[in-house]
Amino acid sequence: MDAKTLTAMQGGGFLIQSPDPANTFTPEDFTEEQKMIEQTCRDFLDKEVLPHILDIDKQKDGLMVSLLDKSGELGLLGASFPEAYGGLGEDFVTATLINEALGGGHSFAVAMAAHTGIGSLPILYFGTEEQKQKYMPKLATGEWKGAYALTEPNSGSDALGAKTTATLTEDGKHYLLNGQKIWITNAGFADVFTVFAKIDGDKFSAFIVERDTPGLSFGEEEHKMGIKGSSTRQLFFENCKVPAENLLGEISRGHVIAFNILNIGRLKLCAAALGGAKRAMDLTLHYATTREQFKTPIAQFGAIQHKLAEMAIRVFASESSLYRTAKWIDDKEKQLHDEGKPGSETLLGAAEEFAIECAMLKVLGSEALDYVVDEGVQIHGGNGFSDEYNISRAYRDSRINRIFEGTNEINRLLTLDMYLKRAMKGRIDLMGPAMGVQKELMSIPDFGDDDTPFAAELKAIANFKKAILMCAGAAVQKLMMTLDKEQELLMYLADMLIDTFQTENMLLRAMKMQQNGHASADLAMDMVRVFINDAADRINHAGKNAINSFADGDEQRMMLMGVKRFTKLASFNSKEARRRIAAKLIDEKRYFF
Ligand SMILES: Cc1cc2nc3c(=O)[nH]c(=O)nc-3n(C[C@H](O)[C@H](O)[C@H](O)COP(=O)(O)OP(=O)(O)OC[C@H]3O[C@@H](n4cnc5c(N)ncnc54)[C@H](O)[C@@H]3O)c2cc1C
Repeated sequence: MDAKTLTAMQGGGFLIQSPDPANTFTPEDFTEEQKMIEQTCRDFLDKEVLPHILDIDKQKDGLMVSLLDKSGELGLLGASFPEAYGGLGEDFVTATLINEALGGGHSFAVAMAAHTGIGSLPILYFGTEEQKQKYMPKLATGEWKGAYALTEPNSGSDALGAKTTATLTEDGKHYLLNGQKIWITNAGFADVFTVFAKIDGDKFSAFIVERDTPGLSFGEEEHKMGIKGSSTRQLFFENCKVPAENLLGEISRGHVIAFNILNIGRLKLCAAALGGAKRAMDLTLHYATTREQFKTPIAQFGAIQHKLAEMAIRVFASESSLYRTAKWIDDKEKQLHDEGKPGSETLLGAAEEFAIECAMLKVLGSEALDYVVDEGVQIHGGNGFSDEYNISRAYRDSRINRIFEGTNEINRLLTLDMYLKRAMKGRIDLMGPAMGVQKELMSIPDFGDDDTPFAAELKAIANFKKAILMCAGAAVQKLMMTLDKEQELLMYLADMLIDTFQTENMLLRAMKMQQNGHASADLAMDMVRVFINDAADRINHAGKNAINSFADGDEQRMMLMGVKRFTKLASFNSKEARRRIAAKLIDEKRYFF
């Protein structure tokens, strides 16, 4: 890409920009080196992790630690950390691919992601040079394990409501931490924690706390619904004596650390969920093609084929969205670097730019996984309910993904909140395009048929965007300062955005596959068309309900007509398309892209 295209994309901009397949990164663009790293991860899962999954779930003494050590020896833990701190300096797409490739590792994937993400990145991005030199090389190799302690019994989604305090001792040499953290991943064995506490009770700040710090103690392992092999404990701080030089970042700026690290965490959660979904699909395809009822493999039944195809469609949507965004972040990082920004600000700045996309990815990735494991259990019948089948573990392990790294409700709300704040600050022009849609509504619709390739799909996406701009623009005008109290409306708008985002990402990928003569390009277009067909109904439903929640009279009537117009599609036989997709899945017995 040249410099112009690198800077062309802005966070949230997909809603108002024309899509361009040539400048869309897709998994088909992975380099040979990236594919080799992916294979190393898959081999590691197959040889070192999955054969021990029962012991992992029983939290067999030392097992998780030794697995993390082994992945550290392979360079997987520090792959994306700079070489100066013991890492391999891989780019963001590669780091994302590693998270995906290990995502089928159940509790191991959670421990690994917590270590490499929220457990290490706060120090990498906000630490002083001394702090980075002290901790990062050990975190990169896995000699030390990392964890992140934000949540408290009374502050989860409301993270800034934390009660844990930090008080500087009279000699200025230590902070005394008092309070409690809950649900801390890797707490059973982590050596280093990023802990959030309020200095003097009100200045929300972050600290690096080592495991053996006097005054720090741990609760018992939580008994959880899933990810049973992942260590989750409470932390208790009783005059916990943290050296003053372990303050991380600036006093009162803890929220900057907490929220910026979560942006990256949300994208990586989508990556891990994608890896989990692909593995659950492979398990299900194997079962569906071998289990017979009525003297027929159950994969031959239309009802089952519908589910198999739908799994692949949602995985394809998630995958296309994930890597398009990961590349935007890579490109933005390079741009910030070229502008002379220090290394600590480049990835964070890039992830902040695409924070809207990160929030949407967290939602769509975790919900795609939930669909796949839920229908995976269904396709396994009674066996799906048995602990002897891995799909039941996949089902239990999936559920947490809609809760941590910000619940899906919070991420939906954030998606809208960030859009509106950026529009108010002039970072993105939404009102101009929204007014354009209002004008278009007054005019006679254009029924002209354009039968050039992809024209119908591109038009559908352009229309979905118009539906969003129409509803959101009118809601902002009408409700102004009270819009944040209308959560139901915000949820509908977020759903419309998330569907449209995925549709565009899938279509651009499929167009590129067509242009490059990819063997499965026609099936990719089938997936896109099925998704558009269903998304139009969902967007219509969400749009109608959004409008009815705040509009009345002529305005309501006009917008209801608008949403109908913007979600109108030519009829399409989605059954036949799903059958074609299912046939290929059954043939290959795996997700085939
Ligand atoms: C297994 C596991 C591992 C975890 N690992 C870590 C970790 O390593 N470090 C860490 O710091 N935390 C961790 N967490 C905590 C996790 O991030 C929180 O559980 C999560 O943020 C939700 O907070 P909560 O549980 O207090 O739920 P609450 O915030 O009480 O939410 C309950 C419900 O209310 C909804 N809700 C809350 N506020 C609003 C609102 N304003 N508007 C609309 N709906 C709202 C939520 O969406 C949710 O549905 C972990 C949790 C679990 C279960």
